[in-house]
Amino acid sequence: MPRSEACPSTDPATVVVAAGRPDPRPGSPLNAPITPATALVPGDGPDYSRQGHPAWRPFEQALGLLEGGRALAFGSGMAASTAAFDLVPLGATVAATEHAYSGTLDQLQQRDAAGLIELRLVDVTDTAAVLEAAAGAAMLWLESPTNPLLELADIESITAKVDEQTIVAVDNTFATPLRQRPLELGADLVVHSASKVIAGHSDALIGVAVTADETIYSTLERRRTSTGGTPGALECWLALRGLRTLAVRLDRAEANAQELSARLATLDAVSDVRYPGWGFVVSFTVPAGADAAQRATERSALISYATSLGGVESTWERRRRHRLEPLAVPENLIRLSVGIEAVEDLWADLCAALSEPPAPSDER
Ligand SMILES: *Cc1c(COP(=O)(O)O)cnc(C)c1O
Repeated sequence: MPRSEACPSTDPATVVVAAGRPDPRPGSPLNAPITPATALVPGDGPDYSRQGHPAWRPFEQALGLLEGGRALAFGSGMAASTAAFDLVPLGATVAATEHAYSGTLDQLQQRDAAGLIELRLVDVTDTAAVLEAAAGAAMLWLESPTNPLLELADIESITAKVDEQTIVAVDNTFATPLRQRPLELGADLVVHSASKVIAGHSDALIGVAVTADETIYSTLERRRTSTGGTPGALECWLALRGLRTLAVRLDRAEANAQELSARLATLDAVSDVRYPGWGFVVSFTVPAGADAAQRATERSALISYATSLGGVESTWERRRRHRLEPLAVPENLIRLSVGIEAVEDLWADLCAALSEPPAPSDER
């Protein structure tokens, strides 16, 4: 077996570093190359890069090992989710996390409105309600933790009781395979926006789907080829390069997030701090209101006022500034993606940004 197909360890901290490397031949590079090419020399495999490309393989090998299945890279997280939704037969029911990522909800709602699926949205924290909604459904779409409310699903209890024919898919973007492995918990399919903490540097749009079910794998692969939701060679390279440091980045960002979530809870300018105890995202509300929350996010000096999450740099934003954000997300909620900076610098920046300067009328 070539080394790139295997990995000397199953410990995720080693897999992120060691998986997906080229065969170690004397004089050859340690790293997978970036190979932009649309046409490949005809032979046994794909000869056009929409069908397959050697640049995808190292990243897919690593993600497959991490999640415990076979991985397919896509052009974005939404391209991976779209291929998953396409597994659902026309008119069938999809039960889904009511507070899933806004782009996911928007697509499911569009499909529902067009009569393609029957959508049942459900509180993902209520296992009994999830099972009720999933009864007879072709797909159960779980997101856990949810973006940005950080609600958790009990994936193992759900998969233990759900109907055999229901495909259970989990958006594992916020957890990563280093904190949660849904296939081991009984799910059929895992989807990631690898644009976030997996790639980790806010510079690559890429997604991945992982499954241990051969039928699902081959259907998704065929959908990827026919819809063209394929990743770029550079994006695969960037995502693999980012993955190499995922374990240390995540440990550091998580330690920062644990500390900051505890300290934020002590501030008068902050309420309702949400943090599941692990991970790199903290959400909280600003009791002074949406405008005050918006001003705070625009006032920070170190934490970037920006969307997306999971980069080495801390970012934050008021999620409801986006038109598609579900109304269940409070107007005054800020989602903070904690990076790997020095925690005291982040804390000082948070304190300064969250304290309103005195209004002009207060100045004498
Ligand atoms: C960003 C995000 C997506 C969408 O991924 P893209 O790579 O932006 O297409 C899906 N799910 C979650 C939880 C996300 O945060």
